[in-house]
Amino acid sequence: MRPDPRAMRHAPARLLPPLLLAAALALLPAGASAQTLGTLDPRPWPPLANPQDPALPAKELFGRAAEPAPLAARALGSYAGGCLAGAVALPVDGPGWRVMRVSRNRNWGHPELVALLERLAAATPEAVGWPGLLVGDLAQPRGGPMIWGHASHQNGLDADVWLTPMPQAGVDRAARETMMATSVVRADRRDVDPAVWTPAHARLIALAAREPRVERLFVNAAIKKALCRETEGDRSWLGKVRPMWGHDYHMHIRIGCPAGEDGCEPQAAVPPGDGCDASLDWWFSDEVLNPRPGGGGRREKTLADLPDACRQVLVTR
Ligand SMILES: [Zn+2]
Repeated sequence: MRPDPRAMRHAPARLLPPLLLAAALALLPAGASAQTLGTLDPRPWPPLANPQDPALPAKELFGRAAEPAPLAARALGSYAGGCLAGAVALPVDGPGWRVMRVSRNRNWGHPELVALLERLAAATPEAVGWPGLLVGDLAQPRGGPMIWGHASHQNGLDADVWLTPMPQAGVDRAARETMMATSVVRADRRDVDPAVWTPAHARLIALAAREPRVERLFVNAAIKKALCRETEGDRSWLGKVRPMWGHDYHMHIRIGCPAGEDGCEPQAAVPPGDGCDASLDWWFSDEVLNPRPGGGGRREKTLADLPDACRQVLVTR
């Protein structure tokens, strides 16, 4: 499904320390922001001239898959290099949630991810005080790389949830495509914006991070800073909340590999501790807040870069 090209924005390339480069590339939007407008008139991408070309970026194939692969559910490969068999859709409307940007057809996930989101949404009114959640992108119907947007979200275990409450009146079809989330980060990016940030935001992030299936939760470094400062009592969940570029109007929830799924490539465990130490300061240094332009793009993944099982995921009808 093509986004409105007028709304496409290009994320600047950045110079990063090598250690963080991989993490950053896995999370930075590749060509458009999650805030990119959707459309009420989604159109399929034009057919490929040579879909068998081994040099073809895999995103061109997975980006054209409109339906899930009718196979047993399996998260295959890694978060930023994989695909998804047997995806299920998070319904666009549910008790306590609405899916945003429906035109993207990215409300597909591993059944464990969808179950987690439904559980979170059900708990939100009481635990957070919001009427419900606005849910952004999960994965494509067969997962895999995307023609535009996220570098991760490939194996059905990642989901974005807006840091904006679901309106009490609901969200109509047009609003799902055009409503904008509100950044909770101050313009200078050194802290949260006190005019926007509320205890409810902190309660939502804590609610998600306390879920045993959640391994990481990515938020802007300014949000992490605020949580470090404001959290009283139990801090055991804070270590899962990881500072990241962007993520100032949504949080990115990542669950671990489902039990028994050998084809799923787990990520390293988060370091021990709450992450509220000097490592956080780097995020507010000049090189991060005001990066010099330049740096290289990432090489496009082809089918050969993904697990072999992803070929089957792509062709099973
Ligand atoms: Zn995300």
